[in-house]
Order: sequence, then C-alpha cells, then structure tokens
Amino acid sequence: MASIKQLFFANLAQTTDFPLALEMERAEGVHIWDTNGKAYIDLISGISVSNIGHRHPKVVDAIKGQVDKYMHLLVYGEFIQSPQVLLANELSQALGSNLDNLFLVNSGSEAIEGAMKLAKRYTGRREFIAFDKAYHGSTQGALSIIGDEEFRRGYRPLLPGIRHIQFNDTAEFQHITENTAAVIVETVQGEAGYIPPHAGYLKALREKCDEVGALLILDEIQAGFGRTGSLFAFHTEDIHPDIVTLAKGMGGGMPIGAFASRKEIMDSLKENPILGHITTFGGHPVSAAAALASLQVIQEEELWKRPLEGEKLFRELLVHPLITEVRGRGFMLAVQLDTFERVQKVIEYCLEHGVITDWFLFNDTSLRLSPPLIITDDEIRRACEVIVEGIDRTV
Ligand code: PMP
Repeated sequence: MASIKQLFFANLAQTTDFPLALEMERAEGVHIWDTNGKAYIDLISGISVSNIGHRHPKVVDAIKGQVDKYMHLLVYGEFIQSPQVLLANELSQALGSNLDNLFLVNSGSEAIEGAMKLAKRYTGRREFIAFDKAYHGSTQGALSIIGDEEFRRGYRPLLPGIRHIQFNDTAEFQHITENTAAVIVETVQGEAGYIPPHAGYLKALREKCDEVGALLILDEIQAGFGRTGSLFAFHTEDIHPDIVTLAKGMGGGMPIGAFASRKEIMDSLKENPILGHITTFGGHPVSAAAALASLQVIQEEELWKRPLEGEKLFRELLVHPLITEVRGRGFMLAVQLDTFERVQKVIEYCLEHGVITDWFLFNDTSLRLSPPLIITDDEIRRACEVIVEGIDRTV
C-alpha cells in the first residue's frame, strides 16, 4: 500500500495509473464534471478555495470586465489600480479590528512571508513561536514554521529562532518571551485535521503576547471567508489580532493573498517601500476584481451563516461505528476513522460514486469535508449516504 505522501505526489504528477488522476472538464457551483460527463459533488472546494462555489457568475463577470480594461500595469504602486483599492477598502472593513492596511500578494505562502517580514521590521525581534502540526505554506520562511519535521528535514538550514509549541495547551506559553517577534497561529488548525481552539485559548494567547510585547499573527488562509460560521474565524473569539494572513477563498477561484495589519504596524514597511516587500504580480488587478466580487457575494448573501446549519446535518448523518469523531467547526469538518487504508478506500469509493473528499497533510486517518458554502441539504444528504456506504464497504 502506498503511503499518503506517495499518493500526494502521484496526484501532483497526474499519473494515469492512480485512481485520482481523472481529467476534469468543467465545474459549476458545488459540482465538477469529468471528461466522460460524470458529475461529482465537490466536498473539498480545492481546500477552501471555491467557498462561493465554482465559477460564480458575479466573479466571472468581474474577471471579464477587468480583462477588458487592463490586466497588469506596474509593480511598485506607481499607478492607482481601482480593483486593488476597492478590494482593500472593503476587505479591511470586513476584517474589523482596525486592520486597515492590506498588502496584496499572490498566495498564502507569500502572505506568510510578508507577515513574518513585517513582524521583524516592526518589533526588531527575530524569533517566532509556531505550532505543532501547523501548516503555513511551502516557501522557506513558511516551511520553517510548519509543525511537521518530515516536511522541514530536507531543507535545513531553515530560519533560526523558531520554536514549535503544542496547540490548545496554555502551559506552553512559557516559551513566548520578550525575544518573540510574533506568535503565528491558524485560527482553526487545518492540515492537523480541523482542530478548533478551545474556548478562551486564543484570548489567553492574545494576553500572553501583550504581556511580552509579541505580535499575534492569525493565519486565516484556510479558515477565512465564511467557512466556520463567521466571515473570519477570529470574529467569534473576542480578540484583535495584530496581523492576519489571507488567501485561498479570497479570490473566488483566482490566485490572490494578503496580509493585513493596523496602519501603525504596516508603516514600518513603508519607511523605504523598496526594502519592504516587492511582488510583480501581487494583487493582480484581475484577481483583485474577482476577490472583490467574491467578498460581496459572501456578504450580500450572508453565505457565512450556512456552514453552521450544514454542520448540524453532517453531524446527524455521519453516524457509523467506525466513525470515532466528527471534528471541526462549520464547513471545516474531519471524519475520524482508524487507519489510512480505510480513509483511502473511502475516498476511492466516494469518487466512484460521484463525491470528492480528501485527506489531510498531517492527519492521514481523517476524511476532509470542506464543501462550498452553497451546498444544499439534499447534496449533503447524498454525500453522507455515499460516505457511510463507503465506510460500510471497508468492514
Ligand atoms: N496557511 C494555511 C493555513 C494553509 O492552509 C495554506 C495552504 N494549504 C497556506 C498557508 C499556504 O497557502 P498557499 O498554498 O496559497 O501558498
């Protein structure tokens, strides 16, 4: 039996002998169709990307409208580009917490790099605290803070001064000191297998950061844009982060990311902008137009309300002696089984029967459920029927 990592790379290389190497032709809303015309219910949304569904008409219109005007101008903010300005304004208002300065980039990893550079510039400190089983991206800075030794091993030396602590354990706060530039934490842990913070945990973390003058960076790249029952997951935590990183669901299917902070903090990158962060395509006008349309859809249709109702239905229907836990919040749900072999068989059964699910990078005994926010009750019922049948077949 191939290991999870071999399967992952096989998928990336698109080998034809692996069952996941299907050729997809078209996607719309909650569905994807393969080249044989077979329809699949998408239960993963490209891992929190297609939050408002595939090819939302308002996003498609925004992209077309922008392509007809211009696609790319210059890099260093030489010209005002209205898609970027409009997006920054609406997004900073949506974030709240005085996160009124946004730096637009291309991806989640780049948002993390920017956030780490900003924390160094603002505090003058060099150390970071990150978490066991955290995922923050694949570039060298992001790799340094991800919480899995196997992923880091081949790339040493990575950034010095990084310490990983256990998530949800306040006893570990002793490692956060006056040398800590920032604590960087996913608001809901993603690749660990959808682990929400305990009640009051992030608030206690905020207090600890304040005590030692460290910044609190929240990674909302996977949890943001409506997935957990609020527009951003930190909105239900009664805390104000110093920096927030965004990407994935931000662009409604287009590549874009951002790091946001209060003006006072972001100003430290502006002293000499050339020495701040330079990115040729960051905040690409076409992606920015798509991101603005996507944000408006989530807000106007209050799509962030849907995951909490949907979660209840998933929990009601996902009952089986082999399911030991359905974990997570909203539409970040992990179905805990016992072995990777079983997870793999269930994924394959689901695929055969028109349902797309997935595993997690750092938890290979859970099944990932993160559907578009617009999934209907009937689609949830159909998907759960197939998942439960799939588990039955493995017995
Ligand atoms: N942070 C989190 C929480 C993520 O889930 C991811 C992507 N899975 C990233 C950062 C990195 O984003 P990207 O793949 O766009 O670089």
